[in-house]
Amino acid sequence: MHTKTIKELSTLLQTKKISAAELATLFLDRIGQSDLNAFLHVDRELTLQQAAQADLRIANGDVTPLTGIPIAHKDLFVTRGWRTTAGSKMLENYVSPFDATVVEQFNAAGTVTLGKLNCDEFAMGSGNENSYFGAVKNPWDKRAVPGGSSGGSAAAIAARLAPAATGTDTGGSIRQPSALCGVTGIKPTYGSVSRYGMIAFASSLDQGGPIAKTAEDCGLLLNAMSGFDQRDSTSIERPKEDFTRSLNDSIKGLRIGVPKEFFGAGLAADVEQAVRTALAEYEKLGATLVDISLPKTELSIPVYYVIAPAEASSNLSRFDGVRYGHRAADYKDLADMYQKTRAEGFGDEVKRRILVGAYVLSHGYYDAYYLQAQKIRRLIAQDFQNALTGPDRKCDVIMGPVSPTVAWDLGDKTDDPVANYLADIFTLSTSLAGLPGMSIPCGFGQGEKNGQRPVGLQIIGSYYDEARLLNVAHQYQQVTDWHLRAPD
Ligand code: GLN
Repeated sequence: MHTKTIKELSTLLQTKKISAAELATLFLDRIGQSDLNAFLHVDRELTLQQAAQADLRIANGDVTPLTGIPIAHKDLFVTRGWRTTAGSKMLENYVSPFDATVVEQFNAAGTVTLGKLNCDEFAMGSGNENSYFGAVKNPWDKRAVPGGSSGGSAAAIAARLAPAATGTDTGGSIRQPSALCGVTGIKPTYGSVSRYGMIAFASSLDQGGPIAKTAEDCGLLLNAMSGFDQRDSTSIERPKEDFTRSLNDSIKGLRIGVPKEFFGAGLAADVEQAVRTALAEYEKLGATLVDISLPKTELSIPVYYVIAPAEASSNLSRFDGVRYGHRAADYKDLADMYQKTRAEGFGDEVKRRILVGAYVLSHGYYDAYYLQAQKIRRLIAQDFQNALTGPDRKCDVIMGPVSPTVAWDLGDKTDDPVANYLADIFTLSTSLAGLPGMSIPCGFGQGEKNGQRPVGLQIIGSYYDEARLLNVAHQYQQVTDWHLRAPD
């Protein structure tokens, strides 16, 4: 049962072959036996209450395709009832008085919450090793990182601890852990999914999205998750759409842009091989490969690591020990309380980003760093525009690797923040441009100690082209079985 897709489970639930309560119990038991550290908070009673409500809805015929489907939320989405920590000591015991819009939408669709998923502290990281609550292990090889920052989400799907999970992607945090754990995830166009109640890291980049086993499942989840929200000032006012509408369309004639900057030095041979094999599979499906160039790709690392910390330093100023979260026990006066609270509550990576962010925004440096970064951000977006839009566009979608290597060993990059940053080279530009991007499993490479570790294929599209991305991914998943493979 735990290996089934959301689509399959939905049919079983609605034909009453299994109840929502039975399904939730099955996954709760699997979570209880797991040693991956993927979950931060599970509450059996709350979950079973939701399952009972879902069963009632099914009995009354009041169903959506997600009614009774168990789901787990990245601990960046605030949830009533379950703790929301953002992977930080700062929010260790925080329980939100309201649900994030995303959570509210899933609840309205009738999903059953299994609990909250581990992540890098305030979503800052690429290996899930920056969580105050400890690293998550990669289910394919427990010596490896699961990727980050949505490491708990991707690991939970890969280990079949949940059929559906939410994630957030600021610079790759849905796509990269999906790649490293061999699951499917999509970051939609910026503004498609409400950020209300999603703890802010870098507001101009943060975007929620689903992680699941298949592109079809991601489409079903995105249908519930996306939509205009007036409580989010950057939410896009567009009518709701069905992201599964073109899953079965043929992709004959599809033009796939292959950026040369995604295949240069630094790309591991095993990853390149799996990605090239996937591209060849697409040619068999009738697509053509077009060489393109995204010349500013390299600059996405310095640009992102100026803009994201700048926004983070501003967003995280709210954690001061006054209104919520951790507060230092002993202090002399207000300033001392702020200092001690923040010194104790934040981990090293978060402090590093607050320092960098405050620096690049400060008088005298703003023009030299922050403003420059914003200008180059525009040029990065222009690279994609040239390839994907307008009458002279060269391709319909862009493909390449998600991560330059397969999952690395736990501990290997913990002393070297820059090594972590460099691993984001292929995901950051999409985020800076606000474009939709996804990762689908396309093979395996060799881990440093010879374990089999998954490789992800990245598919990038133009604004609002999620339905096409899912179609392109789904067609590949009809002729390959990487997405169905699970660790032992
Ligand atoms: N790895 C990137 C970072 O550390 C992206 C994280 C994310 O997308 N949340 O900032």
